[in-house]
Amino acid sequence: MDNLYKTLKTYGKVKINEPLAKHTTFKIGGPAKYIVIVERIQALKELLTFLNEQGIPLAILGGGSNMLASDSGFDGVIIQIADKSCTIKDTTVVAAAGMQTVALAQATIKAGLTEFEWGVGVPGTIGGAVRGNAGATGWEMKDNVEKVEVYRDGETIILTNSECQFGYRHSIFKHNNDIILRVWLALKKGENKDSLKQALQYIKYRNETQPKGYASTGCIFKNVETQQLKNPIKNLQEIPQEFLENNRIPAGWLVEQVHMKGKKIGNAEVSERHGNFILNLGGATADDVLSLIAQIKQQVEEKYGIVLEEEIQIL
Ligand SMILES: Cc1cc2nc3c(=O)[nH]c(=O)nc-3n(C[C@H](O)[C@H](O)[C@H](O)COP(=O)(O)OP(=O)(O)OC[C@H]3O[C@@H](n4cnc5c(N)ncnc54)[C@H](O)[C@@H]3O)c2cc1C
Repeated sequence: MDNLYKTLKTYGKVKINEPLAKHTTFKIGGPAKYIVIVERIQALKELLTFLNEQGIPLAILGGGSNMLASDSGFDGVIIQIADKSCTIKDTTVVAAAGMQTVALAQATIKAGLTEFEWGVGVPGTIGGAVRGNAGATGWEMKDNVEKVEVYRDGETIILTNSECQFGYRHSIFKHNNDIILRVWLALKKGENKDSLKQALQYIKYRNETQPKGYASTGCIFKNVETQQLKNPIKNLQEIPQEFLENNRIPAGWLVEQVHMKGKKIGNAEVSERHGNFILNLGGATADDVLSLIAQIKQQVEEKYGIVLEEEIQIL
């Protein structure tokens, strides 16, 4: 075993040449040279300091549910935060970044809290959810987050909600190298049975609208915020008034309009059920998915003058 492996082992469990396909919901991705699964925040900080000092490339992996990992894998160290601890005191919830969003939502419901029921449908970790300002059914992380503890340049600092600069599927963390360690949610007292009912409705809605049976990574593109567009929309008369009034065009609708639903490249296919999902039919490669993404973007731009932006993170 090499020296780096021995050193990495002092911080957590290490896997060598581990296929990222095993760690992403898309089941796509070549080998990561090393994956280090770190249990304790202190060990995580020390590992980050070590890797930064040595100039070794690193990336953070949460639940791998918003990620397309390259077929060639990652020539560096992937860190998975395994701290899943959570405490609930009154209406304040403190969760470690590695906690599953679904499990956290369930815990808040069990504790008689409300306003995070929507989390029951979001795969991945709460760290990943904060970074992407994940959202569903009209809620987003920014509605629940009170503050976030991050590791930045060798220090641990706390950011308030406004300092996180949340926007639609956006946060400051998409533009810096902060690593989210812990998250504080400010919720409200609720009725356990009402929250449970609400959560079940959310799950039912997802089951009715999202494709099932194949690996995916959720929505590929962000919906289009019309007020942010730099160029005028082409064929504007085709866009339903409702979308324009809401300042948001669903990306899935655009995919459908350019007849890309059901389009297949290699073993990847644009879902017939939901145009913003690409499915891995079994053995799809990142290149298959990237080719579909490129075709969709080209056709949507040609027809509507809109440049779709990826919601997924490409590693
Ligand atoms: C079936 C399905 C349904 C989905 N539905 C929704 C939905 O309704 N709403 C929604 O918003 N999303 C949805 N998603 C996408 C995804 O679940 C969310 O974006 C989720 O919050 C990502 O979390 P993750 O831990 O899996 O992140 P990952 O995919 O592991 O990582 C995503 C990015 O975040 C970074 N990251 C992860 N953890 C940290 C950390 N602690 N510190 C710093 N950076 C970090 C990673 O480096 C990467 O760049 C869905 C996905 C699937 C597969």
